[in-house]
Amino acid sequence: MKVAFFSAKSYDKEYFDPVNPEGHHRFTYFEAALNGATAALAREHDAVCLFVNDKADQQAIEQLSANGIKLIALRSAGFNNVDLEAASKYNIRVVRVPAYSPEAVAEHAVALILTLNRKTHKAYNRVREGNFSLEKLTGFNLHDKTVGVIGTGKIGQAFCRIMLGFGCKILGFDIAPADDMIKAGIHYCSLDDIFSQSDIISLHSPLLPETRHLINKQAFSKMKKGVMLINTSRGAVIDTADAIDALKNEKIGYLGIDVYEQEEKLFFKDLSEKIIADDMIARLIGFPNVLITSHQGFFTKEALEQIALVTVKNIEDFEKGLHLENEVKL
Ligand code: NAD
Repeated sequence: MKVAFFSAKSYDKEYFDPVNPEGHHRFTYFEAALNGATAALAREHDAVCLFVNDKADQQAIEQLSANGIKLIALRSAGFNNVDLEAASKYNIRVVRVPAYSPEAVAEHAVALILTLNRKTHKAYNRVREGNFSLEKLTGFNLHDKTVGVIGTGKIGQAFCRIMLGFGCKILGFDIAPADDMIKAGIHYCSLDDIFSQSDIISLHSPLLPETRHLINKQAFSKMKKGVMLINTSRGAVIDTADAIDALKNEKIGYLGIDVYEQEEKLFFKDLSEKIIADDMIARLIGFPNVLITSHQGFFTKEALEQIALVTVKNIEDFEKGLHLENEVKL
């Protein structure tokens, strides 16, 4: 198969070339993100391989179809960036990597919690400048704290298991509660109970019409003052403008985000010499209690190996006309 990769980085080549050792497939790596204007790059290919900020909307899909593309192979778990109706209309199948390493993302959520809490990022910089003071570095024990987990799928469950290890009490909310989690001691409750009782809230649901801006002004009004909010799911699950207000009025005590509503214009790029036009991210960066990472939850060696293996298997199953185990359907 001839596969056009969009939003390709050096690590994509590093992990995908070894799973195509005999050159059975032809991989072309394009740095450009997919959109209606760049879709034509895929001409003379059979499939496209996309990541989280490639926009397979109606216009892009129409272009892909006109250029003979039959398969969209997502090298991600989330698929909110693909217009599935348009894909179905143009007879383009869509596959994804549903569970490459839930632990990678769950562990990153925990890294955000520990960093925000114990302020190791600040301590690191202080000590390098010869400042050994502990002033303003006070943290809190995780033991006995209440952690609300919204979305207890694969990543949410991996996260719950880690937090149980810290001795936290876990409240869960999911449209389909998991028996294993109930057995492990997670207490499922309403969203309102999560908001009102949690010291830490961690988001692990997909971005769907029902979860877009789930964390908004109303939700913040129900939360404890000083709550820690962690988002490693998708940026738009939080209403960013409302989060900024909640930071300004000190409702949010700590915010750790690996994803951001408008991230496609920023994340995965080195903009250090550029003027950042996005005033919301600039405001967020300015708060001392906000920690932002640029969608690196998935970014471990184990996860990258698994993403490459499963993506190539998805492509080969399609090529051989086999059942597509990881197909995303309407
Ligand atoms: P999953 O499908 O295993 O779990 C999602 C869970 O959310 C399911 O249990 C589902 O029932 C639940 N859910 C669906 N609608 C809900 C709603 N309205 N309210 C509450 N819960 C709801 O998915 P996963 O592998 O755990 O991944 C979760 C999300 O994490 C992905 O959709 C993706 O957006 C994000 N993700 C982020 C990264 C990263 O690098 N930061 C990497 C992978 C995935």
